[in-house]
Amino acid sequence: ESQAKAITAVGPNSVAAFDRACQLMPGGVNSPARAFGAVGGTPLFIESAKGPYLYDVDGRRYLDYIGSWGPMILGHQNPEVVAAIQAAILRGTSYGAPTEAESELAERIIEAVPSIDKVRLVNSGTEATMSAIRVARGYTGREKIVKFAGNYHGHVDSLLVSAGSAAATLGVPDSPGVTKGAGGDTIVLPHNDLAAVEAAFAAHPGQIAAVILEPVVGNMGCVPPCDGYLQGLRDITARDGSVLIFDEVMTGFRVAFGGAQQRYGVTPDMTTLGKIVGGGMPLGAYGGRREIMDQVLPAGKVFQAGTLSGNPVAVAAGNATLKRLKAQPPYEYLEKIGTQLANGLGQAAEAAGLPHQVQQVGSMLTLFFNGSPVTNWEQSDRNDRQQYAAFFWGLIRRGVYPPCSQFEAMFLSETHTEAMIDETIAAAKEVLQEIAA
Ligand code: PLP
Repeated sequence: ESQAKAITAVGPNSVAAFDRACQLMPGGVNSPARAFGAVGGTPLFIESAKGPYLYDVDGRRYLDYIGSWGPMILGHQNPEVVAAIQAAILRGTSYGAPTEAESELAERIIEAVPSIDKVRLVNSGTEATMSAIRVARGYTGREKIVKFAGNYHGHVDSLLVSAGSAAATLGVPDSPGVTKGAGGDTIVLPHNDLAAVEAAFAAHPGQIAAVILEPVVGNMGCVPPCDGYLQGLRDITARDGSVLIFDEVMTGFRVAFGGAQQRYGVTPDMTTLGKIVGGGMPLGAYGGRREIMDQVLPAGKVFQAGTLSGNPVAVAAGNATLKRLKAQPPYEYLEKIGTQLANGLGQAAEAAGLPHQVQQVGSMLTLFFNGSPVTNWEQSDRNDRQQYAAFFWGLIRRGVYPPCSQFEAMFLSETHTEAMIDETIAAAKEVLQEIAA
C-alpha cells in the first residue's frame, strides 16, 4: 500500500526519467541514497532549485530540507555565490597551477576553524578524510585507526565499516569489495562510549595513529556528543600521542562558523571539511596543526595530489559562501528556526501518540521513530524505518522534501522562513496523525 502511495506522489516525468536512468547508471543514480531505496519508490528528478525550494521535472515545488545533503546553508542560487561562480568561469575553469583565490580560501578556513594552522584543498569530503588518515599515519608512524559505528566518513575503504547511513541504505553492514586488509587496521567502537576508547588504547598502546569521528553525527540521524565525550577523546588521544580528527564535513560552518569544535570548545589535531566550504561546488579540505600538515608533499613526504584540486570555480563558490557567512552570520537565526522545527515536530508526534525523539543541534535535526534517545548506532538501528518511510511520502505529497532515510539529518538554510517552518509542522502533524491511525 505504501508503494502505491509512493507512486501517486511522483509525477510521470520523474517516473520516465528514472526508467531511463536505470538503464544507464547503477540503480539510476550517481550516489546511492538518491535512489530512495530506504523509503521505497521512485526518486523525484530535479530540474532546478531556488532559495529553499526544489522544482522537479513534473513542475512540482518542494520545500527542501536536505539542502544537497548539507552544503546549501545560504539556500539555492544565493546571488553572491552565483555571481562569484559566473565571474570565475569567465576567467577559465581550470589551470592546474596555483591561484591567489586558493590562498584567500585557505585564510578564511584557517581564521574560522580553531584547529587548522595549514590546510590542503581537495575535491570531496571522501578525499579529505582519506588524506587526513594517511597524513595521521605518516606523522605518527602508526597504522591503526579508531572509528565509531554509525559514523560515515565517505567511501574510503578503511573507513567503510559500520558506516551509518551508507551501510543502512545499502542494507549490508559492510561493503563488498573492501578487503580484510583495507579494514584490518580499523578498530570500530560504539559511539559516545569513552570506556570503550580507554579499553582500545589500553589494548593497543602507542599503535593507534588516529581517532576519527563526526563530533555531531549526521549519518545515523542527528546525534549530539554526550557530556564530556569530545573532551574525553581529546584527553585520551593527547596522552597516547594519537591524532584526533574531527570529520566536520557536515558540521563545519554549519553548527557554528568554526564548526563543532568551536561550538563545544574542544580542539582536535586535524579537521576535515566539505559541503558548505565549497558553496555547492565539488570541494573539500583537510587541515590541522602546522607540524602535522607540513608532512604533506611537497613540504613533507606524505603523497596527496589532485588535477582539479583548488579548482578556481569551486574556490570562488567557497570564498563567496564563507565571506557571506562571516559578514552576515545566519547562525542565531538558524538556531531559532531549528528549535522551532524541532519543537513543532516533537509536539506533533506527541499529539499523534507515536514513540519518538527529536534531536537537534542548530540547523541539523532528526525526528526519530524510536522510544529511546539515540546516542549510538545500536539504538539508531532500532528506529522504525517503516514509520519513517510513511512520514517521508506523506510530506512529499504535501510539497515538503525531507531526507529519504531515517539515518540522515534535516538541514535548514537561511532562506527558510518561520512561516515555512510552521507550514511544515502543520503538514507533519497531518502525516503523523495518519500514521498513528
Ligand atoms: N564525512 C561526513 C561526515 C559526511 O557526511 C560525508 C558525506 O555525506 C563525507 C565525509 C563524504 O563526503 P563526500 O560525499 O563529499 O565525499
